[in-house]
Amino acid sequence: MKVPILDLKPAYDELRSELDAAYHRVLESGWVLLGRELEAFEAEYAASVGVKHCVGVANGLEAMQLVLLALGIGPGDEVIVPSHGYIATWLAVTHVGAKPVPCEPDPHTYNLDPARITALVTPRTRAILPIHLYGQTADVDAINAIAARAGLFVLEDAAQSHGALCRGRQAGAIGGAAGVSFYPSKNLGALADAGAVTTDDSALADKLRHLRNYGSKVRYHHDYLGLNSRLGELQAAFLRAKLPRLAEWNVRRGVLACQYFAALSGVGDLTLPHVPDWAKPVWHLLVVRTAQRDALQSHLAAHGVGTQIHYPIPPHLSRAYTREGWQRGDFPLAEKFAHEVLSLPIGPHTTAEQVDYVCTHVRRFYGR
Ligand SMILES: *Cc1c(COP(=O)(O)O)cnc(C)c1O
Repeated sequence: MKVPILDLKPAYDELRSELDAAYHRVLESGWVLLGRELEAFEAEYAASVGVKHCVGVANGLEAMQLVLLALGIGPGDEVIVPSHGYIATWLAVTHVGAKPVPCEPDPHTYNLDPARITALVTPRTRAILPIHLYGQTADVDAINAIAARAGLFVLEDAAQSHGALCRGRQAGAIGGAAGVSFYPSKNLGALADAGAVTTDDSALADKLRHLRNYGSKVRYHHDYLGLNSRLGELQAAFLRAKLPRLAEWNVRRGVLACQYFAALSGVGDLTLPHVPDWAKPVWHLLVVRTAQRDALQSHLAAHGVGTQIHYPIPPHLSRAYTREGWQRGDFPLAEKFAHEVLSLPIGPHTTAEQVDYVCTHVRRFYGR
């Protein structure tokens, strides 16, 4: 048996008529940018998240960058980011000229640890940028409380958490705004790069609609130094076809997660994901941790099981950030997790038999 870490083809098999219809609708319309499909998707996605506004943009990185730009965050400002996570979150901060200030994770959930934030706040801090990593929300209520006391904006990185809940509220609707990615592998994925901002703030949404389009409200009249960051009609139409399936696809991921928990609890030195009672994750990734990570990964590869490491190099040790002067040992939890995490196959089209096969080979690795 072969178990790929990701396979996009079965989603097409399941939604062939809807995706084909979306494709034809756009090509027949002759309209490819900033049109009816995007408008409709923005309304449908905002409704599904429970926010007033969704502004479609080119990708998740630029979604966050545009929010920071709209807020006037830039050189001389600091933004608190997770030390353990994806570099895109940090790049959004760096690209507006502000400084990412890394905060170590809660060692059980891997998400930004609210207890460590206050010590990092300085007079230059403007915002906190938590990631809902692996499909589980950070404790945004605790983060919001800290932000309110310090007068900071909370921008959620909701790239991995479409549909995840934090005390009953949806990722993307808990902070001041959220950056969302529809990169093809995400729980809701387009067929190319795509992203959005969700927010209840009407003035912010309005400004973002201009910033994504060269800072122009009326054609050739430029009010801001904007970007070109648009979500095309074709991708918007594909996303509209997929959005009605998101909830069911997340349920399927949840069923497989339960199967992993039942089969792998107490096996060897494996640490399974920890889910606090207030969190309802959507299992974007199924991440386990072990000191024998590389050996386990090779063992699984030898048996046809695809895995990935999210992420092998923490952003502060990436060559891109050399100029900041961070050293090995600066963020020990992020460094430890980078050596220990392993993502096992999970997705809406992964089968129970495949998960069973993966678990069998994980247990065999540990001689069980
Ligand atoms: C995918 C991802 C991004 C970037 O989204 P793109 O659409 O690829 O730019 C940002 N943050 C996290 C946590 C992600 O997983």
